[in-house]
Amino acid sequence: MSARVLVVDDVAPNIRILEAKLSTEYYNVLTATNGLEALEAAERDNPDIILLDVMMPEMDGFEVCRRLKANPDVSHIPVVMVTALSDMSDRIQGLEAGADDFLTKPVNDLALFSRVRSLVRLKMTMDELKLRRQTGEHFGQSQSEGDMDVDGATVLVIDDNPSDTSHMARHMGDRFQMAFEADPDAAMAMAGSFAYDLIVVSLDHRGADPLRLVSGIRNTPSSRQVPILLVGEESDAERVAKALEMGVNDYILRPIEANELVARAKTQIRRKRYQDMLRQDVENSIAMAMTDPLTGLHNRGYFDQHLESALGRINGDGKGFSLIMMDIDHFKAVNDTHGHPAGDRILKDFANRITDGTRGFDLAARYGGEEFVVILPDADMKLAEVVAERLRTMVEDKPFDTGEEAGAIAVTCSLGVAEARVGDDRASILKRADECLYRAKEAGRNKVVIAA
Ligand code: GH3
Ligand code: MG
Ligand code: MG
Repeated sequence: MSARVLVVDDVAPNIRILEAKLSTEYYNVLTATNGLEALEAAERDNPDIILLDVMMPEMDGFEVCRRLKANPDVSHIPVVMVTALSDMSDRIQGLEAGADDFLTKPVNDLALFSRVRSLVRLKMTMDELKLRRQTGEHFGQSQSEGDMDVDGATVLVIDDNPSDTSHMARHMGDRFQMAFEADPDAAMAMAGSFAYDLIVVSLDHRGADPLRLVSGIRNTPSSRQVPILLVGEESDAERVAKALEMGVNDYILRPIEANELVARAKTQIRRKRYQDMLRQDVENSIAMAMTDPLTGLHNRGYFDQHLESALGRINGDGKGFSLIMMDIDHFKAVNDTHGHPAGDRILKDFANRITDGTRGFDLAARYGGEEFVVILPDADMKLAEVVAERLRTMVEDKPFDTGEEAGAIAVTCSLGVAEARVGDDRASILKRADECLYRAKEAGRNKVVIAA
């Protein structure tokens, strides 16, 4: 995976070391030697990740990070703080400033590549989601990751070390809803059946292989998206790197420092909630793009696509279908007499009757104002005519309630039926159905006409 990495350090040899390491892995390296340059480069060059030195004259790394995270144009770019000291207070301060991760100098290759890789991967997912979200513009709220609320989040801890668990209970318990499980099978079952916001896995679990647990969690559809925070020892570096490659999101080393634990948990939960929100928005906009808002049926755009693929099948393996086109009779007069809102209520009820009168795998859509279409897979002309006739009577037999004083209104509709033929395209089958519909109107309405 190639990516653009912005390396920020005031000391040229430090930049060269990182540049050399990253270049051997085919990363594209950009550089900046002070905070202001870094801010400019972030905006101008849109890197995929920023490696940011903490100690720089004028503007230190914390301040640069704070400014990056406050700027909506670049706040999505992951920032890794590079610190000379493995000083705990530096780490905490970095997390507070919004940093996504840390590396300590001298930078260890395993840590460098696994962190860079996992953060770049995360950013690419987020970019993709954001892009798709922009297409569904109407969900305009521009919330950012930092706005996500983390209180009350649910955390599952898989650990059989009582001193770890009591430590976590003490420091995380007042903010999160904690569940502890030492048994690996029971823990897997819990992870699979409840949508936790975070799962904490201890690397030195005595009764289980923690990497197997991680892989189990990642391979279970319901827990695939749940962030995993690993707890390990300084000496575990290789297994930590392996775990990060397998999809663990972050790790913390013993002795567990309470503030760092909480800060890392918060970062993961915030990120997860943000991703969930983006994903939900994308799903909503996809649903909206397919649905007619008044009737809840599919809209014309969706219908056209669906018709295209049904035609692909008949022209491919000969799998047939029929199509019904229906139009409400004298609907303009209904609107004129009872008003537009009453007309809308009739359209909704009309759509419901179509749904009730067709099979689950038939596809009904609102094609235009008071015109509807139904695709009936596997239905020949004879069956389609039966369905059309049923729909016609379902409309005719029961007047439509509009909530008006006038009471229920009698409505009828006309229907045209066509069966798909090999060689059909969208226009040709729609034309045949439409001609039948026209003939039904001509013949006095409230009729079904089938294509010869
Ligand atoms: P015909 O029997 O020949 O189909 O006559 P008609 O009056 O139904 O046909 P026409 O195409 O002349 O009029 C369609 C009417 O449908 C006009 C329009 O006001 C109404 N209509 C279209 N969309 C909507 C809608 O979303 N809500 C309401 N209330 N009316 C609609
Ligand atoms: Mg009409
Ligand atoms: Mg019409």
